Amino acid sequence: MLPLEVMELAAEQLTNYNGCGMSVMEMSHRSKEFEEILHSAESNLREIMNIPDNYKVLFLQGGATLQFSMVPINLLRNSKKADYIVTGAWAKKAAEEAAKFGEIRVVASSEESNFTYIPEVKREDFTTDADYVHITLNNTIYGTRYPYIPDTGTVPLVGDLSSCILSDEVDVSKFGLIYAGAQKNIGPAGVLIVIIREDLIGFAGKDTPIYLDYAIHAKNDSMYNTPPTFGIYMAGEIFKRIKATGGVSALETINRQKAKKLYDYIDGSSLYSCPVAERDRSLMNVVFVTGAEALDKKFTSEAKAAGLHNLGGHRSIGGMRASIYNAMPMEGVDALIAFMKKFETENKGSMGEK
Ligand SMILES: *Cc1c(COP(=O)(O)O)cnc(C)c1O
Repeated sequence: MLPLEVMELAAEQLTNYNGCGMSVMEMSHRSKEFEEILHSAESNLREIMNIPDNYKVLFLQGGATLQFSMVPINLLRNSKKADYIVTGAWAKKAAEEAAKFGEIRVVASSEESNFTYIPEVKREDFTTDADYVHITLNNTIYGTRYPYIPDTGTVPLVGDLSSCILSDEVDVSKFGLIYAGAQKNIGPAGVLIVIIREDLIGFAGKDTPIYLDYAIHAKNDSMYNTPPTFGIYMAGEIFKRIKATGGVSALETINRQKAKKLYDYIDGSSLYSCPVAERDRSLMNVVFVTGAEALDKKFTSEAKAAGLHNLGGHRSIGGMRASIYNAMPMEGVDALIAFMKKFETENKGSMGEK
């Protein structure tokens, strides 16, 4: 979901942005209007995430997937070694891509238990001369989230925050680099945000394709080539709204209440269960099952008919997943729980009971 107010504002401004006579989709990215959109998006993001001054904020394209390549291309700068913690399919893809460019070690993985928990990792577990350590902070498909930020000592920590950025307060200074695709918790698809500590910029090799070099984007303030203008405009309006409604801490409070209500209901029900270890549960993606595949399918299709969309689990694991991103109000969670109760009553005594 995106906030309705922001979509209505975008609709109102669609053909005539702020009285300038044209749409954001029509204006030059070098126009005064668009430069102002980009600068205010950046400064508002800096403010709501409390991004320190020695970090650059880049608005790029190619999604999180392109970062699976750009991170090793730019950050494997000394030993050409990096450590990855594999907590899901995205983390695994990131590690596999990085292995094309250097010596990649998987220091911990929860694959043996279908990624239902976050491994405990200590500073001693990391390769001492690694160029960086990569984690996926929230695992979208499996509904897990790190309950702690790993201590990597002086080795820069890289975080894929695609599905949890702006959902709760994160200390940016604990990371060397953060990346996040916009389409989960910010705005429409097409924008990818990189927050990178300045001392990590400038290490891409001479043969690096120019778009893949962070230094080019940093030097040109995300305007080396045409950035995804409409997506940046939408993201910027979301940032403004977050700032005006109490910031990330206010969102975190609501997100915790939303998630707690749903997990409490699941844990107390006689039909549904959540396979994720309690302390590692995601605030954004709540995964649950009935215990019977056929009943899960029935749940998802009846939910859809009742107006509750996108509740099917990821195609790789099945079951159900409620993605309760920032813009999902408490009423959405209440509606889901009401439906779950009704479905539970109607299907009492079926094979799915736990
Ligand atoms: C969705 C997702 C990705 C992939 O994002 P794209 O923008 O489609 O490349 C990567 N990492 C995480 C954690 C995700 O949730």
